[in-house]
Amino acid sequence: MSIKTTQRPEHRATLKQSSIKFANFWKDSYGAVSPTPSLTSPIDTDLLIVGGGYFGLWSSIIAKTAAPEMKVVLCEAGAIGDGASGKNGGFLQYSLTHGIEQGIDRFKDELTELEELGRENFSEIVQFIQKNDLDIDFEETGAIEIAKRRDPNLSLRAVTLNENGTEASYLTSQEVQDHIKIDGYVDGILTPKYSAVLDPFKFTQELKRIALNLGVEIFEYSPVLEVQDDDSYLTITTPLAKVTAKRAIVATNVNTELIPSLRRYIAPVYDYALMTEPLTSEQFKSTNWSGREGLSDIANQFHYFRLTADNRILWGGYDAIYHFRNAISRDFEVRSATFERLLHNFYRAFPYLEELTFTHGWGGAIDTCTRFTPFFGTSHSGKVSYASGFTGLGVAATRFSAKVAFAIHFDRDWSVLHSRYVSEKPLPMPPEPIRYLAIEKTKRSLAKEDQTGRADLWLKATRRLKFGFAS
Ligand SMILES: Cc1cc2nc3c(=O)[nH]c(=O)nc-3n(C[C@H](O)[C@H](O)[C@H](O)COP(=O)(O)OP(=O)(O)OC[C@H]3O[C@@H](n4cnc5c(N)ncnc54)[C@H](O)[C@@H]3O)c2cc1C
Repeated sequence: MSIKTTQRPEHRATLKQSSIKFANFWKDSYGAVSPTPSLTSPIDTDLLIVGGGYFGLWSSIIAKTAAPEMKVVLCEAGAIGDGASGKNGGFLQYSLTHGIEQGIDRFKDELTELEELGRENFSEIVQFIQKNDLDIDFEETGAIEIAKRRDPNLSLRAVTLNENGTEASYLTSQEVQDHIKIDGYVDGILTPKYSAVLDPFKFTQELKRIALNLGVEIFEYSPVLEVQDDDSYLTITTPLAKVTAKRAIVATNVNTELIPSLRRYIAPVYDYALMTEPLTSEQFKSTNWSGREGLSDIANQFHYFRLTADNRILWGGYDAIYHFRNAISRDFEVRSATFERLLHNFYRAFPYLEELTFTHGWGGAIDTCTRFTPFFGTSHSGKVSYASGFTGLGVAATRFSAKVAFAIHFDRDWSVLHSRYVSEKPLPMPPEPIRYLAIEKTKRSLAKEDQTGRADLWLKATRRLKFGFAS
């Protein structure tokens, strides 16, 4: 499917006509995949993982590595990589708290440990990638956040990061331009370590390869329809066969059907991205982007952007679209109004790249929760563990969360399990229709704050209550 984007008169100088394919670039450029067979006969297992995104795949790898004798089965509703894990921006970032400010705001007493755990998790992922020679276009680029308006807190953030063990430096306007030639931004922060970019879909396929090599039995196109607690074991229903399992980890992201209580905490929010054609070497040179850092802007409605291995630019973010009653649909993954806005904002930021066209546009659902970080729990008399609420920063955090979900079953002594971060839940979202109205009101207030630099009463109140909204 493709559209011709329309030109708006006021943007005639910058908004180009583009022929964009509505498809996930990462998957589209990967080529054919061979799914594992579906589950067609009954099976008995020590551990069942439900969902084959990063969280489920890491859970299976961590289980098989810690206990090779353990039988581990993974059931995925569709194909591995079809969820958010195969279609995200590919920013691998160490933070477990959705940035240091959120960490200070919500977990001040545990911040030092959480920062250390985040860096350790990042380093272990890098070691894993290197040791297993993962073919995922991994680049340890560092990251730059850039700001549209001057804010003294920005240089303070660099100080705070350094104080907490993450190297960071404040960038003046000129220094930003030396890293990336871009319009509309005044200063920024560079964090040269603990931030990388990768091809997210390739990452899912490589994690699948490693899991299979370790002996994990993966069944694709095998949705779990029900998990039933039968006293000493779980009975799991899939369309063609039942699974009997001692334990399970539910890793289904925005899909909360198997643990309905999760619906209280999760709002699926759609986030979108565009991909350009590859830059010519002259275009690339003109960007000053030789450091190839992953970039994002510091706003409530923020853009994230990065280079691919073949020097395309992924340009995403800004809109965060919630549908009434937590609705999820493949149809929501294409949104012309958002693609138009992304195009418009891209050419405003990079007017000198006006010849550059876009090839792909797609979207995906983010499991947003009010504290912006994963949270954990159990159900079915403790036989099921889960993590959810990654809120747009799950590429690295899913691995840490897989360690937690595994430890909940098999390593209760791990001190991290007793932290507030792991043991507390976020504030629940209100029921509908208040949920929808509150999210829409918050979005309007966030947009206004971006324009004016001032939080309105609604935002001040929600922040005081630590009731956040982000994508
Ligand atoms: C557009 C976009 C950009 C993003 N960019 C970034 C980024 O740059 N950096 C970052 O850190 N994070 C990013 N994220 C977030 C990140 O992708 C997610 O946090 C992460 O992939 C979540 O992994 P997961 O395994 O929990 O979910 P998923 O990858 O969605 O996997 C869940 C799987 O469970 C399966 N499933 C659901 N129900 C069932 C069932 N009943 N039975 C069996 N299987 C089931 C689904 O089919 C799916 O494959 C982005 C997300 C989106 C959508």
